[in-house]
Amino acid sequence: MKILAVGRNYLEHIKELGNQTPDEPVIFSKPETAVLRNNEPFYYPDFSQDIHHELEIVLKISKTGENIEEKFAHKYYDEIGLGIDFTARDLQAKLKAKGLPWDLAKGFNGSAPLSEFLPKQDYDLKNLNFRLEVNGEGRQSGNTSLMIYSFDYLVAFVSRYFTLKTGDLIFTGTPAGVGPVHPGDRLTGTLEGQVLLDFEVK
Ligand code: MG
Repeated sequence: MKILAVGRNYLEHIKELGNQTPDEPVIFSKPETAVLRNNEPFYYPDFSQDIHHELEIVLKISKTGENIEEKFAHKYYDEIGLGIDFTARDLQAKLKAKGLPWDLAKGFNGSAPLSEFLPKQDYDLKNLNFRLEVNGEGRQSGNTSLMIYSFDYLVAFVSRYFTLKTGDLIFTGTPAGVGPVHPGDRLTGTLEGQVLLDFEVK
Protein backbone atom coordinates (compact mmCIF):
# COMPACT_ATOMS: atom_id res chain seq x y z
CA MET A 1 0.00 0.00 0.00
CA LYS A 2 1.24 3.48 -0.79
CA ILE A 3 0.11 6.88 0.36
CA LEU A 4 0.21 9.77 -2.07
CA ALA A 5 -0.62 13.30 -1.01
CA VAL A 6 -1.19 16.65 -2.64
CA GLY A 7 0.16 19.88 -1.23
CA ARG A 8 -1.42 23.25 -1.99
CA ASN A 9 -4.93 22.31 -3.10
CA TYR A 10 -6.90 24.99 -1.21
CA LEU A 11 -6.19 28.64 -2.01
CA GLU A 12 -6.62 29.99 1.53
CA HIS A 13 -4.07 27.46 2.82
CA ILE A 14 -1.59 28.40 0.08
CA LYS A 15 -1.94 32.03 1.17
CA GLU A 16 -1.50 31.30 4.89
CA LEU A 17 1.87 29.61 4.23
CA GLY A 18 2.95 32.27 1.73
CA ASN A 19 3.33 29.72 -1.07
CA GLN A 20 2.81 30.16 -4.80
CA THR A 21 -0.28 28.64 -6.43
CA PRO A 22 1.08 25.68 -8.41
CA ASP A 23 0.38 25.19 -12.12
CA GLU A 24 0.10 21.47 -11.49
CA PRO A 25 -0.45 19.46 -8.29
CA VAL A 26 2.45 19.25 -5.81
CA ILE A 27 2.69 15.52 -4.99
CA PHE A 28 4.56 13.80 -2.19
CA SER A 29 4.25 10.43 -0.49
CA LYS A 30 4.26 8.94 2.98
CA PRO A 31 5.37 5.41 3.82
CA GLU A 32 2.93 2.82 5.14
CA THR A 33 4.60 3.08 8.56
CA ALA A 34 3.17 6.60 8.90
CA VAL A 35 -0.35 5.23 9.40
CA LEU A 36 -2.19 5.34 12.74
CA ARG A 37 -5.59 3.68 12.89
CA ASN A 38 -8.48 3.28 15.32
CA ASN A 39 -7.79 6.65 16.95
CA GLU A 40 -4.48 5.46 18.38
CA PRO A 41 -2.61 8.33 20.09
CA PHE A 42 0.02 10.31 18.20
CA TYR A 43 3.35 10.46 20.00
CA TYR A 44 5.05 13.81 19.54
CA PRO A 45 8.50 13.16 18.04
CA ASP A 46 11.68 14.57 19.56
CA PHE A 47 13.08 15.92 16.26
CA SER A 48 10.55 18.71 15.88
CA GLN A 49 9.17 21.57 17.99
CA ASP A 50 6.51 22.55 15.47
CA ILE A 51 4.27 19.67 14.39
CA HIS A 52 1.22 21.00 12.54
CA HIS A 53 -2.15 19.37 11.92
CA GLU A 54 -3.50 19.29 8.35
CA LEU A 55 -6.97 17.73 8.13
CA GLU A 56 -7.67 16.20 4.73
CA ILE A 57 -10.18 14.05 2.86
CA VAL A 58 -8.54 10.74 1.90
CA LEU A 59 -9.55 8.58 -1.07
CA LYS A 60 -9.13 4.82 -1.01
CA ILE A 61 -8.28 3.25 -4.37
CA SER A 62 -10.49 0.28 -5.24
CA LYS A 63 -8.78 -1.18 -8.31
CA THR A 64 -5.53 -1.17 -10.21
CA GLY A 65 -5.08 1.57 -12.76
CA GLU A 66 -2.50 3.59 -14.64
CA ASN A 67 -2.86 6.47 -17.08
CA ILE A 68 -6.48 6.80 -15.97
CA GLU A 69 -8.56 9.34 -17.87
CA GLU A 70 -10.16 11.96 -15.66
CA LYS A 71 -13.64 11.03 -16.90
CA PHE A 72 -13.13 7.44 -15.69
CA ALA A 73 -11.25 8.29 -12.47
CA HIS A 74 -14.39 7.98 -10.31
CA LYS A 75 -14.41 4.22 -11.01
CA TYR A 76 -11.07 3.81 -9.24
CA TYR A 77 -12.04 4.88 -5.72
CA ASP A 78 -15.11 3.82 -3.81
CA GLU A 79 -14.49 4.97 -0.23
CA ILE A 80 -13.52 8.20 1.49
CA GLY A 81 -12.26 8.97 4.96
CA LEU A 82 -10.45 11.60 6.97
CA GLY A 83 -6.74 11.78 7.61
CA ILE A 84 -4.31 14.10 9.31
CA ASP A 85 -1.23 14.97 7.31
CA PHE A 86 0.99 15.75 10.31
CA THR A 87 3.82 17.97 9.19
CA ALA A 88 7.01 18.94 11.02
CA ARG A 89 6.78 22.55 9.85
CA ASP A 90 10.21 23.49 11.22
CA LEU A 91 11.94 20.65 9.37
CA GLN A 92 9.90 21.33 6.24
CA ALA A 93 10.91 25.01 6.27
CA LYS A 94 14.59 24.05 6.46
CA LEU A 95 14.26 21.50 3.66
CA LYS A 96 12.25 23.86 1.45
CA ALA A 97 14.86 26.60 1.91
CA LYS A 98 17.52 24.23 0.60
CA GLY A 99 15.29 22.89 -2.19
CA LEU A 100 15.41 19.42 -0.62
CA PRO A 101 12.69 16.73 -0.51
CA TRP A 102 10.11 16.88 2.30
CA ASP A 103 10.19 13.22 3.33
CA LEU A 104 11.53 13.72 6.85
CA ALA A 105 8.98 16.46 7.53
CA LYS A 106 5.98 14.56 6.14
CA GLY A 107 6.58 10.82 6.34
CA PHE A 108 7.70 10.14 9.89
CA ASN A 109 6.09 7.50 12.13
CA GLY A 110 2.51 8.36 13.03
CA SER A 111 2.29 11.23 10.54
CA ALA A 112 -0.86 9.79 8.92
CA PRO A 113 -3.71 9.11 11.37
CA LEU A 114 -6.65 7.70 9.40
CA SER A 115 -10.33 7.34 10.14
CA GLU A 116 -12.53 4.49 9.07
CA PHE A 117 -13.53 4.64 5.40
CA LEU A 118 -17.09 5.16 4.19
CA PRO A 119 -18.83 4.44 0.87
CA LYS A 120 -18.49 7.47 -1.38
CA GLN A 121 -21.95 7.07 -2.87
CA ASP A 122 -23.44 8.22 0.43
CA TYR A 123 -21.90 11.69 -0.06
CA ASP A 124 -21.92 14.63 -2.46
CA LEU A 125 -18.19 14.60 -3.18
CA LYS A 126 -18.19 18.09 -4.68
CA ASN A 127 -19.75 19.60 -1.57
CA LEU A 128 -18.27 17.82 1.44
CA ASN A 129 -17.85 19.68 4.71
CA PHE A 130 -15.06 18.61 7.01
CA ARG A 131 -13.82 20.15 10.20
CA LEU A 132 -11.10 19.79 12.83
CA GLU A 133 -11.37 20.75 16.48
CA VAL A 134 -8.47 20.80 18.90
CA ASN A 135 -9.60 20.53 22.53
CA GLY A 136 -13.12 21.38 21.41
CA GLU A 137 -12.10 24.56 19.60
CA GLY A 138 -12.58 24.88 15.82
CA ARG A 139 -9.30 25.06 13.92
CA GLN A 140 -9.96 24.00 10.34
CA SER A 141 -13.10 23.80 8.31
CA GLY A 142 -13.13 22.98 4.65
CA ASN A 143 -15.46 22.21 1.80
CA THR A 144 -14.40 20.23 -1.23
CA SER A 145 -16.03 22.78 -3.55
CA LEU A 146 -12.99 24.98 -2.75
CA MET A 147 -10.38 22.53 -4.05
CA ILE A 148 -8.17 23.68 -6.91
CA TYR A 149 -7.83 20.10 -8.21
CA SER A 150 -10.82 17.75 -7.96
CA PHE A 151 -10.65 14.18 -6.68
CA ASP A 152 -10.99 12.87 -10.25
CA TYR A 153 -8.30 15.17 -11.58
CA LEU A 154 -5.91 14.09 -8.82
CA VAL A 155 -6.51 10.37 -9.38
CA ALA A 156 -5.91 10.80 -13.12
CA PHE A 157 -2.83 12.95 -12.56
CA VAL A 158 -1.01 10.69 -10.10
CA SER A 159 -1.85 7.58 -12.16
CA ARG A 160 0.30 8.94 -15.00
CA TYR A 161 3.32 8.50 -12.74
CA PHE A 162 2.35 5.76 -10.25
CA THR A 163 0.30 2.67 -10.97
CA LEU A 164 -2.53 2.80 -8.46
CA LYS A 165 -3.38 -0.40 -6.64
CA THR A 166 -6.28 -1.49 -4.47
CA GLY A 167 -5.89 -0.04 -0.98
CA ASP A 168 -3.65 2.85 -1.98
CA LEU A 169 -4.58 6.14 -0.34
CA ILE A 170 -4.61 9.69 -1.66
CA PHE A 171 -4.59 12.67 0.72
CA THR A 172 -6.33 15.46 -1.18
CA GLY A 173 -5.01 18.60 0.51
CA THR A 174 -5.80 20.70 3.53
CA PRO A 175 -7.91 23.85 3.91
CA ALA A 176 -6.74 26.92 5.82
CA GLY A 177 -6.25 26.90 9.57
CA VAL A 178 -3.26 24.61 9.97
CA GLY A 179 -1.41 25.08 13.23
CA PRO A 180 0.66 23.46 15.94
CA VAL A 181 -0.36 20.58 18.19
CA HIS A 182 1.01 19.89 21.66
CA PRO A 183 1.15 16.88 23.97
CA GLY A 184 -2.18 16.63 25.78
CA ASP A 185 -4.21 17.97 22.83
CA ARG A 186 -7.25 16.10 21.65
CA LEU A 187 -7.99 16.21 17.93
CA THR A 188 -11.51 15.62 16.64
CA GLY A 189 -12.24 15.41 12.92
CA THR A 190 -15.74 15.40 11.48
CA LEU A 191 -17.05 14.70 8.00
CA GLU A 192 -20.51 16.14 7.35
CA GLY A 193 -20.92 16.43 11.11
CA GLN A 194 -20.01 12.81 11.84
CA VAL A 195 -17.05 12.32 14.19
CA LEU A 196 -14.54 10.08 12.42
CA LEU A 197 -11.27 11.04 14.11
CA ASP A 198 -10.91 11.51 17.85
CA PHE A 199 -7.46 10.95 19.30
CA GLU A 200 -4.85 12.37 21.64
CA VAL A 201 -1.39 13.79 21.18
CA LYS A 202 1.01 12.33 23.75
MG1 MG B 1 -1.24 18.24 3.52
